[in-house]
Amino acid sequence: MVVEVNKVVSVHYTLTEGTAEGNLVESTKGGEPLVFIFGIGMMIPDFESNLQGMKTGDQFSFGIPAAKAYGEYNKSAVVSIPKSIFEDNGKVPEGLLEIGRMLPMQDQEGNQLQGMVAGFDDTNVTMDFNHPMAGVDLFFTGHVESLRDADPSELEHGHVHGAGGHHH
Ligand SMILES: [Zn+2]
Repeated sequence: MVVEVNKVVSVHYTLTEGTAEGNLVESTKGGEPLVFIFGIGMMIPDFESNLQGMKTGDQFSFGIPAAKAYGEYNKSAVVSIPKSIFEDNGKVPEGLLEIGRMLPMQDQEGNQLQGMVAGFDDTNVTMDFNHPMAGVDLFFTGHVESLRDADPSELEHGHVHGAGGHHH
């Protein structure tokens, strides 16, 4: 069996920035592996294309440039917003405006989006709507832990059942 469409793939991986020696972003080492159904759009396409055809125990090591991961950092996604819109009864709730904090927001069309508080003064708040990983080149190292066929209910639901997945 190899990694291909509709297989349930378990991998242990370490994600670092730029190169294998870059800053650690996250790692499954010492914990549960990442479990996903291959080829149904759950993962970054380049992540899947690098695993395609692998067998259990195969090691991997590859980079994905920011543009093909979470996108380039977009300066125009950093905007200044009047502080008044964060007010509730004329007052900004205690602790709401904290640099680095993610806040659920809405654009003019009513779409939900997450923004990060990047700064504020007495009148305005600077919000950064870039993905937290925007502009970061990703580097993955790891190995394929196990492989199995996805069962029909998993394919129907679009997620893994049992270990590493949904229990219902
Ligand atoms: Zn389900």
